[in-house]
Amino acid sequence: MSHTRTILLNPGPVTLSERVRQAMLGPDLCHREPEFTELQAEIRARLASVYPEARSEYVAVLFTGSGTAAVEAMVGSLVPDDGKALVAANGVYGDRIAAMLQVRGAPHDVIRTPWTEAIPLAEVEKKLQSERFTHLIAVHHETTTGRLNDLNTLGQLARQYDVKLLVDAVSSFGGESIDFASGTIEACAATANKCLHGVPGISFVVVRKETIATRTSAARNLYLDVIQNGKAQDKGHPLFTPSVQVLYALREALLEFDDEGGWQARRDRYRQRMTLVRDGLHRRRIASLLSEGESSILSAFLLPDRVPFANLYQPLKRRGFVIYPGQHWLDEKIFRIAVMGDLQPADLTRFLDAFDVTLADAPRR
Ligand SMILES: *Cc1c(COP(=O)(O)O)cnc(C)c1O
Repeated sequence: MSHTRTILLNPGPVTLSERVRQAMLGPDLCHREPEFTELQAEIRARLASVYPEARSEYVAVLFTGSGTAAVEAMVGSLVPDDGKALVAANGVYGDRIAAMLQVRGAPHDVIRTPWTEAIPLAEVEKKLQSERFTHLIAVHHETTTGRLNDLNTLGQLARQYDVKLLVDAVSSFGGESIDFASGTIEACAATANKCLHGVPGISFVVVRKETIATRTSAARNLYLDVIQNGKAQDKGHPLFTPSVQVLYALREALLEFDDEGGWQARRDRYRQRMTLVRDGLHRRRIASLLSEGESSILSAFLLPDRVPFANLYQPLKRRGFVIYPGQHWLDEKIFRIAVMGDLQPADLTRFLDAFDVTLADAPRR
């Protein structure tokens, strides 16, 4: 079956390994059974150990929903009415966090930066100096452009000004460095189906144990309440019906993650793959959108002159490769390649060959 499989080069859901796909065929299971309690406990423990320094101070709270569910649960539950959040946004996902706070009616301010630029750290610092904030919120890997935001400096600023750091790490958790050791991170939202190589449908918030134990929730809904879901899961049962088969797949994906050497090994593998694709496309005179600050996971490339996205996408899809468009104003300008999932370097070499044929034949505007 491997010769017919489609290679997903979009930033999640990812190309699954056979091992993870087969895991979904596990036994039917009610979430009130002891076997489920065990499955849930194992997955939560493994998620809190993806970064081993997190294990002693943090727990994972599971949600049935996509990555956005976890992000909305995190920002909706943890920013209190008498607090104030500062959001540093340089892409679609940073803007989405601001929109969530807006909908929730939570006090907040936003520093918006053009999507092709880094978060202006001096401006963030000035803002933190000028006013009392309780939370600083940022996206780690801004999937809009493939930029890896400077989480370490944001963490230093958070410590210096005594604010809690909330991180959207949906597209970086398991594939990039995240500093849990310093304790600056209050919570971090992520999902099963990006760097962890699971199936879409389960997302999670890795949050300080102390927060679950001592804080009252600010959530204005029941389903996405990090504190109440965390307390229930600690007692052994989820509050609501979970996606059992997706959890089977996530457990297998986490076993595979360990077998492959953990997050550093995964990042190294992504870097090798990304270098192969970047160098290959650059040799074909395809330029990168960003000149610095790119992640190991995803790159944005400028569309060739007069070749709309569809004219690359359609023929590449027929050849077995799914590439990803830009969002909003970048939609006419870029295409994106992500290297998560069960890929081999040979798949990417074949992709570059397919790209050559596609580009040679592509109708120009
Ligand atoms: C994928 C992604 C999300 C969540 O998207 P879903 O479609 O809800 O899974 C959030 N933030 C970032 C940075 C992402 O890449």
